[in-house]
Amino acid sequence: MQQFSLLFVFALLISLLIQLWLSARQKKSVVSHRGAVPDDFAEHISLESHQKAADYTVAKLAPNKIELVYSSVLLLIWTLGGGLEWLDQLVRSYQLSSIYTGIIVILSMLFISSILDLPFTLYRTFSIEQRFGFNRTNAARFIKDMLLNVMLTLVLAVPLIAGILWLMQGASPFWWIYVWAFLFAFGLIVSFIYPTFIAPIFNKFSPLDDAGLRERIEKLMSRCGFSNNGIFVMDGSKRSSHGNAYFTGLGKNKRIVFFDTLLNSLDEDEVEAVLAHELGHFKHHHIRKGLILNAVITLFSLAVLAWLIKQDVFYNALGVSQASTYMALILFSIITPLVSVYFQPAMSYFSRKHEFEADDFAAEQSKPQTLITALVKLYQDNANTLTPDPLYSAFHDSHPPAPVRIANLSSKIK
Ligand SMILES: [Zn+2]
Repeated sequence: MQQFSLLFVFALLISLLIQLWLSARQKKSVVSHRGAVPDDFAEHISLESHQKAADYTVAKLAPNKIELVYSSVLLLIWTLGGGLEWLDQLVRSYQLSSIYTGIIVILSMLFISSILDLPFTLYRTFSIEQRFGFNRTNAARFIKDMLLNVMLTLVLAVPLIAGILWLMQGASPFWWIYVWAFLFAFGLIVSFIYPTFIAPIFNKFSPLDDAGLRERIEKLMSRCGFSNNGIFVMDGSKRSSHGNAYFTGLGKNKRIVFFDTLLNSLDEDEVEAVLAHELGHFKHHHIRKGLILNAVITLFSLAVLAWLIKQDVFYNALGVSQASTYMALILFSIITPLVSVYFQPAMSYFSRKHEFEADDFAAEQSKPQTLITALVKLYQDNANTLTPDPLYSAFHDSHPPAPVRIANLSSKIK
């Protein structure tokens, strides 16, 4: 038993060291390029915005490092320190049914963890984002958002956890396949209702009222064979000045959402280019591919869990004395990141491949030059660094670094 505890501590330590090392590399890369704008961007980006991006990137790294160490220590307290054991015994003493006990233990752990993480969230929003001029939220909205999040988590998590635990405790040895099907169906339902029921809890969505722009967008969409289910503008500016655009929903409930901040900083040609990129994701079935990949990974993980759940050493090595389905879920979610960190570069690689395909599609549908100017504006508005460390970026960035992306688009200019 003891060697498995040691293995866990060792894996936790290695994963922490990898993250800290990547973070140090990123800082070094950004700081060493702070003095000059990269040649390809010299015409478009001032030294002042380049340095702001560098300072912003470095400022965000510092609390991340502390948080990495802090959460590793917390993880040890939860497991070997007896935190989970204490919580489990406390809830068990009320002698509720095992499903109720499981729901209470899991939700308590989530709740305590998010309270313990709150200082970092507060620091990010009201110190870093504020200092660099991105924060638009205030204490009242922050608290309201937090309460809404708690309520939403309860509404979604209680039936989800109850369903999973119920299937796990059924007699079938193939419970993990049922749980997989249940998770898949649950995910589809949430994606379907997200744009109409969940997103509006936090933001206001109004139909795009600029007739000229709307007409151009509709033309582009029909040219690409995308059925028009609504183009919406979201009031992202009430929380942050960062801008974005995305697709959401499934089937008939699909819609396109622009942040108001994005529409304010891009001209019509550029908005069209950004939309063409998003339509590229749709054309290449990236959402469907992502869902399939996710389903395969989930099935594999559940098969591993189905084996672990029967091993007493799995619980004992992580500081829990009594086996239970809910504890298996919690412990599994604790050890998964220690393994998945090694797959992060592969996941980022697939995501980047999709970004290139979407960029190539946008370059065909509109002018590559226009997407370049749009991207440069967005990188500048969001103070994204143009000089990330390649290894840090391979682990953390779902999108290719700006210079690589822009070089690819430049090669498409006829
Ligand atoms: Zn994209």
